[in-house]
Amino acid sequence: MLLESRPRLGGRASSFEDQQSQSLIDNCQHVSMGCCHEFNRFCETVGIADSFERAEQLYFIGPHQSGPVSTDTRFQVNRFASSPALPTPLHLFPAFARLSYLNFREKRELAQGLKQLARTRVNPENEPTMADWLQAHGQSQTVIDRFWNVVLVSALSESLDRISLSHARKVFVDGFLRARDSWQVLIPTTPLEQLYGTTISDWLTARGTEIRLKTGIKQIHITEGKVTGVELRDGTHIDADRVVLAVPHQRVLDLLPAEFPGRTELSRIEQLEAAPITSVHLWFDREITPLPHAVFVDCLSQWMFNRTQLMQQEHDGRWYYQIVISASHQLTAAGRQGRSQEEIIQEVIAELTRIWPVTAEAQLLHSRMLTEHHAVFSVQPGVEQLRPAQRTQVAGLYLAGDWTSTGWPATMEGAVRSGLLAAEELLHDLGKPESLLLPPENTAFLSKMLFRL
Ligand SMILES: Cc1cc2nc3c(=O)[nH]c(=O)nc-3n(C[C@H](O)[C@H](O)[C@H](O)COP(=O)(O)OP(=O)(O)OC[C@H]3O[C@@H](n4cnc5c(N)ncnc54)[C@H](O)[C@@H]3O)c2cc1C
Repeated sequence: MLLESRPRLGGRASSFEDQQSQSLIDNCQHVSMGCCHEFNRFCETVGIADSFERAEQLYFIGPHQSGPVSTDTRFQVNRFASSPALPTPLHLFPAFARLSYLNFREKRELAQGLKQLARTRVNPENEPTMADWLQAHGQSQTVIDRFWNVVLVSALSESLDRISLSHARKVFVDGFLRARDSWQVLIPTTPLEQLYGTTISDWLTARGTEIRLKTGIKQIHITEGKVTGVELRDGTHIDADRVVLAVPHQRVLDLLPAEFPGRTELSRIEQLEAAPITSVHLWFDREITPLPHAVFVDCLSQWMFNRTQLMQQEHDGRWYYQIVISASHQLTAAGRQGRSQEEIIQEVIAELTRIWPVTAEAQLLHSRMLTEHHAVFSVQPGVEQLRPAQRTQVAGLYLAGDWTSTGWPATMEGAVRSGLLAAEELLHDLGKPESLLLPPENTAFLSKMLFRL
């Protein structure tokens, strides 16, 4: 039985009906990567893998040359793709070498930094922030702003002064260095509501799972260290001797009794901090770029998704673009420093106009800005010590969710892994032990040699 408090499945990966545009809007673009093996297998299993477009090239848009940005700066699209003739990890070398906005010296500095990062052995008990590490390893402000910041902030949804070295290293090792296609980005071509709501709900129902939506849990009952059932918000009691609690970490302790074995250790999750993600949704009366997506360098906007094109929709006189700004601490009500949402939207449009001048001629038909304040947990140094295992000290109670101990940051990959790990524990307790996770991916031979991975 699956109990969900909202009227739909999907959790944080969800859509809602926008009244003015009369369209289903995703709360934010949710992408995955080639290295997200468990998530990609999950999509194959439940039959949604065809609803993703695999981007075999990315478009980094930055100043056309190295040096400070001024109002006259021209922007250039840098196509980023593998070179088929070169072995992993050298296959990405020409793409890095072509980046217009770093000069030769900066590219050499970046290559040196990447090598040092890959070879670093991190002590998770005592690790620096990525900002401190970059400074200690001689990375200049330009390389930090135009490379490290661009990749890490969108991958981990945190600022460099808050990202731990181990999480930053994982992004580059798993995403760029270990295997050939791991850096490729998978983008949904269907609204999230359909992807994770209706399709998965049909799949589960067809396999005998009873799904109860709009059914919030009030309390998990524990007697003598064992789970005995759950109490719903409407007062109904459901007997259960095994429960997988898969709610966001901010909700967990409220759903458990004041006393239970392991409460003190589990209470460490209260120290997990959240990081916000903002999305700006824009509908124009014309196409401002035919690119399906783009990454921006030296801008407030970080990613552009051309939703009309990605959703393979007819444009019906409106072209829909979504701009994502991760780690948007400065855009939350507290961080805005007097700027209104409208001013932020105008700032985003001004950036788009600098990159694609046709934007100045386009009429903005509708706009919307959304900030998810608790989008992800913040991957700060020490965070791994706060994340609990899926097995608890209470018999029959298991935890799942991207915040449990998976080794991954808050991603759909982390969420899927947590579910599989919880299921492994549960099967073990039922006397049917089974390994559910895929074996670790093979590391390319040259990556082992060059980076000692
Ligand atoms: C704006 C934004 C952008 C993101 N972008 C990406 C991305 O590009 N790529 C990526 O991999 N990840 C992304 N993420 C992160 C990703 O959404 C999460 O890591 C993932 O959805 C976590 O899944 P989960 O099952 O752990 O938790 P959730 O999705 O939070 O699910 C928890 C569920 O518990 C339910 N619940 C809560 N309380 C109760 C209760 N009392 N009773 C019953 N049910 C309850 C909730 O309604 C919810 O459905 C993004 C997140 C946000 C917010």
